[in-house]
Amino acid sequence: MAKEPTKRIVVIGAGIAGLSAASYLLRNGYAVTVVEQHDKPGGLCTSWKRKGYTIDYCVHWLLGTKPGTEYHQIWEELGALTNKDGSAVPIVNAETFSTIGLTGGEKIHLYGNIEQFRTELLRLGPEDEKQIDKLCKSLLSLSKIPLYALSEEKSLGKSIGRLNQMRHIIGHLAPLEEYAQRFSSPKIREFLGTLIPGEWSLASLTLGLSQQHIKGAGYPVGGSLNLARNMERVIKQLGGELRYRTKVAKIEVADGVAVGITTEQGETIDADYVISAADGHQTIHNFLGGTYMPQALQQAYETYPLFPSSVFVALGIDRDCSDLPHSSTPYLDPPMELADGTVVPHFSVAVYNYDDTLAPKGKTLVTVIMNTWNSGFWEGLAQTDRKQYELTKDGIAKQVIGYLEKEFGNIKEHIDMVDVSTPHSVIRYTGNWKGSYEGFAPTRKTLSRPLPKTLKGLDNFAMIGQWTSPGGGLPTAAQDGRDIAIRLCKQDKRQFSGKLPQ
Ligand SMILES: Cc1cc2nc3c(=O)[nH]c(=O)nc-3n(C[C@H](O)[C@H](O)[C@H](O)COP(=O)(O)OP(=O)(O)OC[C@H]3O[C@@H](n4cnc5c(N)ncnc54)[C@H](O)[C@@H]3O)c2cc1C
Repeated sequence: MAKEPTKRIVVIGAGIAGLSAASYLLRNGYAVTVVEQHDKPGGLCTSWKRKGYTIDYCVHWLLGTKPGTEYHQIWEELGALTNKDGSAVPIVNAETFSTIGLTGGEKIHLYGNIEQFRTELLRLGPEDEKQIDKLCKSLLSLSKIPLYALSEEKSLGKSIGRLNQMRHIIGHLAPLEEYAQRFSSPKIREFLGTLIPGEWSLASLTLGLSQQHIKGAGYPVGGSLNLARNMERVIKQLGGELRYRTKVAKIEVADGVAVGITTEQGETIDADYVISAADGHQTIHNFLGGTYMPQALQQAYETYPLFPSSVFVALGIDRDCSDLPHSSTPYLDPPMELADGTVVPHFSVAVYNYDDTLAPKGKTLVTVIMNTWNSGFWEGLAQTDRKQYELTKDGIAKQVIGYLEKEFGNIKEHIDMVDVSTPHSVIRYTGNWKGSYEGFAPTRKTLSRPLPKTLKGLDNFAMIGQWTSPGGGLPTAAQDGRDIAIRLCKQDKRQFSGKLPQ
């Protein structure tokens, strides 16, 4: 039996963090209303339809797809891995994480299997055998440590395990550019400088790679929106209210206590507790008018590096594309130049030949993503010169098709759908600051200093989601939602349960 609702919680944002918070709070006896500006759940974890294709924007690898792990338990509890018809979401674990193009036509295959990856690195830089062995040994031990995510479970064994987890991760906090200096091979150095900015921690590469070895972070067939819809269904079953096309303008505060929200349409919704799972900058500056700004957050917004935003090109290819690599980062010679001034020496290509739910029979969705930190350019162009904005997008698509034709061949003649989105689209549909796709970037400093999730002087309020956990990502967002439910239960002296009521 579900517990009788006692308190009304308003959750702002139906991204993965907001959906998770709502789902766990409902099963623990809270009444929940989720307010979301878009017309669907998922936030950044989204897909959209064009000409029979489902354009998947987000999930490439999902930590927690391996049964028996704590993150898997969270996804299971949330119903994310159970489809509408009751079937389990199939998980694809590819043999290679990706293939990276280097100068001079060289390529490196990032094999999931660490021994194979070691052989590949030795091929590129035999002179670095000692460092390569060190790297692979530490990848192996990283892959073996359990990643703890269930915060309510406390025991001596778990505390020791968490310390062990931290000890391993600390070993991967060095900036990549600093770490790359340990290798003499120019090719290995080039590879280490290709995927991720040099100031980011080595962990941003090694955490993902180590999980591939144990098949701990696969791709969920059906893609991003399917995950969110699966979570949404459970919320509805639990009696949660989801209000789409409802944009929050303000969090109402009375005597230092959050008491509800007011929407852009002027409607006020009362609450005993407000959780913002929306963009952090907007929460602090717009919803709360900049009144509450702890020093740690101010420092983060002023100095922490961000994940970039992106220009994203989706192509429908009217052939099966099973001959193409599923994930690659070709070297672009000459580099592409975006209208915002960004020089793009590599872009990431996903050929969805492993998910036939995203394309009509016999066809394939291909997506290309290019990083840019210049979201302001796209915002300005879209607002001041719509025609030029559309022309610029067309030009990008043409260039991308040209590069793909050169890289793979047999592409150009088979295109029957083109769709381009920019940082302007990300900001418009998700509200994320500067269109960033994962919030604060993972560096030694950001990863070792947790950000506050509550604000001094403001009771009955919390912030969750990617802007409160540097490094971001889907599992952290889901964990954040669970943790806030644990916190509220503790505060209200309730026994938290992650399980669905019988
Ligand atoms: C291209 C891309 C690829 C990615 N790939 C992966 C991957 O493979 N694996 C992985 O783990 N992570 C990946 N990520 C990161 C992951 O998607 C995010 O970190 C995660 O989805 C963030 O979830 P969130 O709930 O914190 O925030 P969001 O998804 O941003 O959700 C916030 C929600 O709040 C809503 N909102 C904002 N303002 C308002 C308002 N004023 N009123 C009402 N609602 C509002 C938004 O519309 C949105 O729905 C990727 C991200 C991108 C963009």
